Amino acid sequence: QPVVGVLALQGDVREHLLALAEQDVVARPVRRAEELAEVHGLVLPGGESTTMSRLLETFELLEPLRDRVAAGLPVYGSCAGMILLAQEVLDGREGQHTLGAIDMVVRRNAFGRQVDSFEADLDFAGLGSGGDAEPAPLRAVFIRAPWVESVGDRVEVLARVPEIPAAGPAAGRVVAVRQGNALATAFHPELLAADGRDGRVHELFVRTVREA
Ligand code: GLN
Repeated sequence: QPVVGVLALQGDVREHLLALAEQDVVARPVRRAEELAEVHGLVLPGGESTTMSRLLETFELLEPLRDRVAAGLPVYGSCAGMILLAQEVLDGREGQHTLGAIDMVVRRNAFGRQVDSFEADLDFAGLGSGGDAEPAPLRAVFIRAPWVESVGDRVEVLARVPEIPAAGPAAGRVVAVRQGNALATAFHPELLAADGRDGRVHELFVRTVREA
């Protein structure tokens, strides 16, 4: 069984651990470099990206994490975790660190200026276990979420906010991406997966971990 860690410095660690436990992997919190060294994949949870950035330094995890990500460790970031995976952050805090695992620019709190939280059903590419021509839409919960402003050539766009009036200026924005072994969503699939409602994003990530 692969060992999948959840970066446990801050944020909704518990929900990701519960979501992973549904996927037949060993799920573990990661706070120390020794723990990071033992995982085959790592989730960066939702929470507050500037706080996580600071704690990564305090816990001396920033460099070890950058090294493992550069070496191809499968990583999945939700919301604040997406921000950590980006190349560049707009509306970030001065000196906020990112891992640069995905060639994208994200805008922090992009939805937050309009509404604090927003839900929508998304078409999400690559969900479903292969057979389904058209997988069921994915319920997405956005909480002071970022969106993706722009992506480089190597980035695969997996989902956008639907063009519905309730989405306002977020309509059509990119909110899920993948580049190599790195996956990111602006929303929180862990909230639905933790209580057994829809674990497909974690399933997708675990598939990458198994293949790597
Ligand atoms: N706004 C938060 C940040 O900047 C992210 C919010 C979330 O993870 N739900 O990190």
